[in-house]
Amino acid sequence: MADTCGCPPEAGNAVCELPAQGFQRPSRIAHACPECAKTGKPVQGQTIKALLAVTLREVHDVEYLFCRTQTCPVVYFSADGEQTFTVEQVRERVYQKEPGTDDVFVCYCFRHTVGELRAASAETRLAIVDDINTGINAGQCACDLRNPQGSCCLGNVRGLAKQLERLAVEAAG
Ligand SMILES: [Zn+2]
Repeated sequence: MADTCGCPPEAGNAVCELPAQGFQRPSRIAHACPECAKTGKPVQGQTIKALLAVTLREVHDVEYLFCRTQTCPVVYFSADGEQTFTVEQVRERVYQKEPGTDDVFVCYCFRHTVGELRAASAETRLAIVDDINTGINAGQCACDLRNPQGSCCLGNVRGLAKQLERLAVEAAG
């Protein structure tokens, strides 16, 4: 802070310690990814600790967010934008970053991949969604520890299934 108040060093600290009236850090859009500028989704500390492939000494007691932007290499960033963790620093491949890659999981808890959904019939896809729902209801999921987004995959699975239905209809039509 001392170098932002504009006092020459010889002015001493007495001046610098006065509250800087009206001074604010240049505003930054809250919770925006420092790389792609899109708003991130808050994740719990246990999610980032479970998913990082780097020493957890680097994880601080601050808020972290998940970046969903497909083309952005950042997976997690601190709310102040000072720290980022990219796809290379995460133990799992991230569905949001590679939604078209067959061997990437769309459901991390019950291990359903993009390719499995892609190869499945519409009926089998419904059965997969049922299987996930059954697992969730039985308390068998651990999305906060296994899914990089830190939350339930069901929205992604349903979204992918819908997208595949549309493609099938287009291909048939
Ligand atoms: Zn980003």
